[in-house]
Amino acid sequence: MIIKVAKNSGFCFGVERAVDGVIAWAKANKDRSVKVYGMLIHNSYVIERLKELNIKVIEDVNQIEKDDVVFIRSHGVSMDEFLEIEKRAARVYDFTCPYVKKIHEIVREASANGNDIVVVGDINHPEVKGIIGHVDKGRKCIVIDSIEKARDAIAQLGSKTIVVCQTTFDNAKWQQIKEYIENNTDYKVFDTICKATINRQQEAKILAQEVDIMLVIGDRKSSNTNKLYEAVKGIKPTYFIETLEDLKKIDFSRAKVIGITAGASTSQEQINEVIQMLEREFNEVDPSDFEKLLNRSLKDIKKGEVVKGKIVKVEDDYILVDIGYKAEGIVYKNEVFRNANVNLREIFKENDIIEAVVVRESDEEGNVVLSKLKADNIHGFEELLSKFKSKMPVKILIKQIREKSIVGEFRGINVFVPISQWAEEVSSSIIGKIFEVEIVDVDSEKKIAFGSRKALLRQIQEQRLLEAMENLDFAKDYEGTVAEIKEKGIIINFEGLRGFVPASEISYSKKIEDIKRLFRIGEQVKVRVIDVDKQKKQIYLSIKRSQEDEWIKKAKGLYLGMLVDAEVTKILPFGLVVWILEYDVDGFIHISNIPLGYNQRLHNLYKVGDKIKAKIIEIDEQRHRIGLSLKDLYEEEEQVPQYTEDFVITIADIAKNIKLED
Ligand code: SF4
Repeated sequence: MIIKVAKNSGFCFGVERAVDGVIAWAKANKDRSVKVYGMLIHNSYVIERLKELNIKVIEDVNQIEKDDVVFIRSHGVSMDEFLEIEKRAARVYDFTCPYVKKIHEIVREASANGNDIVVVGDINHPEVKGIIGHVDKGRKCIVIDSIEKARDAIAQLGSKTIVVCQTTFDNAKWQQIKEYIENNTDYKVFDTICKATINRQQEAKILAQEVDIMLVIGDRKSSNTNKLYEAVKGIKPTYFIETLEDLKKIDFSRAKVIGITAGASTSQEQINEVIQMLEREFNEVDPSDFEKLLNRSLKDIKKGEVVKGKIVKVEDDYILVDIGYKAEGIVYKNEVFRNANVNLREIFKENDIIEAVVVRESDEEGNVVLSKLKADNIHGFEELLSKFKSKMPVKILIKQIREKSIVGEFRGINVFVPISQWAEEVSSSIIGKIFEVEIVDVDSEKKIAFGSRKALLRQIQEQRLLEAMENLDFAKDYEGTVAEIKEKGIIINFEGLRGFVPASEISYSKKIEDIKRLFRIGEQVKVRVIDVDKQKKQIYLSIKRSQEDEWIKKAKGLYLGMLVDAEVTKILPFGLVVWILEYDVDGFIHISNIPLGYNQRLHNLYKVGDKIKAKIIEIDEQRHRIGLSLKDLYEEEEQVPQYTEDFVITIADIAKNIKLED
């Protein structure tokens, strides 16, 4: 049986980033209370793993306690929810998928500029609810999922409208709605659908055409896994696999080639479990079935039949194979490889699985005579193609060294490895030995293949790198060495890996003008991992986060809605710079948050040194920025402040205006 796995199966980039991030953090901080806001992933298997690590899934901000570390899942949240979570939790990690974040930015900016918003998507989907929560409160936002609803929305909205789409919405429907809107309005349409989902479905459809049976692995509650199932079920018999138990209900007797795909919320571990079980069931003989197998009648074995078996003995001239029949199968050396002077003991070992054709039902000793060569002729090329497509290594037997290439054999197929792609010394000692290579090209007409040792070793190295990246601890300080100093940051060697510290992550306080003056090559530094991009194989580090941040220490006791005593230290045309007395940090009150009467100016109302009471409306730890307001001071302290796009003044703006005044 041949198993073909779709390349794009399992976690998508956004989900993988969130699941890996939460798990890595929880593993490194076993004593902390970790909560994920909303179902991180629709996959009970993964949720069980999270429970084992004591990670709780919460659905309501009221479930957050003050020592909690809260993770925001890839679907994202509304701005109000984000502020509320930040207010209540000790720490928040935002794992909103960057594609979803992009939509938040689009609708925030467009609505702040006076546009109404149309969201094409499912109104009950958490991603859509989050997007709505980023639209300026003064603008209209309508969610539609059909052409009829698009028509109704157009009737209610003006020409200044933009359109976005839920990332995981049905692509065919999106294309229809998009076309309708483009033909009937001048709305600006942003194609925000996630291509990961589309690619996955297209690839699954192509794969379904090449196989006898399709298995879709994932949770029935996952909408994208269901869509994947729907996409292929009309092409070939398709089965939904939630647990390994589901495999037992399937009749595989007629299936020679099985296709596997999996939803964006299915872990690689689950996919591997299914593959391993299939391999165990169909490539190996389970000892518990031995009695059953002994009882098989002679007529079960027929001349010309292809059988699979487990090697039980390797001799100089033959191999004995348990084929689940009352007699063992025997493969003589000349039926293993064509013209190859090989040492069978070096190539095969007990418990290896081989495929062979029954040549004779019984010899003088009662053994079933088998030919591996014949089975290779039938299935060898098919298996090679499958390994090529899934980038799985193949074991080749080296037969010959030519001027420009090394010739090996995989199940009767010649595999040419150019000398430039060989990683070891080329000498006659490699002839007759087995080496693993990656198949880089196949010529289906000539039935030959081209392999590379170097590509395989690169793949193994990359795999090791990914594993090392997965095991990085986001909460730990690593010892590193400065390897390179660039204009925009520094490269650090640490733990056998390389990471990049962007200039903004070097220091909390210093304004970095020339990084080269701050560091020298070989200097030891402490770093903390802040992000890992597995696709780009890039690790982002921070130096500043491994140091104690004075500002954060001072501002720790402040919270949104809190009333504080402050002293005016600077009067600017667009607001007041104040010193928050008890906490010894600066804050800023934008003019829009100061009650002013007609024709009143800040200079007439306030002077430097005035003591005032103000309410905290924004705390931005990253930028060391505290926003205050003098409006509605005596409302309940717990009231959630409205998010306002007005407060976009940075320290740089303040500095700019100080100069102007002078
Ligand atoms: S499906 Fe696309 S948008 Fe959604 S989390 Fe995955 S990568 Fe991000």
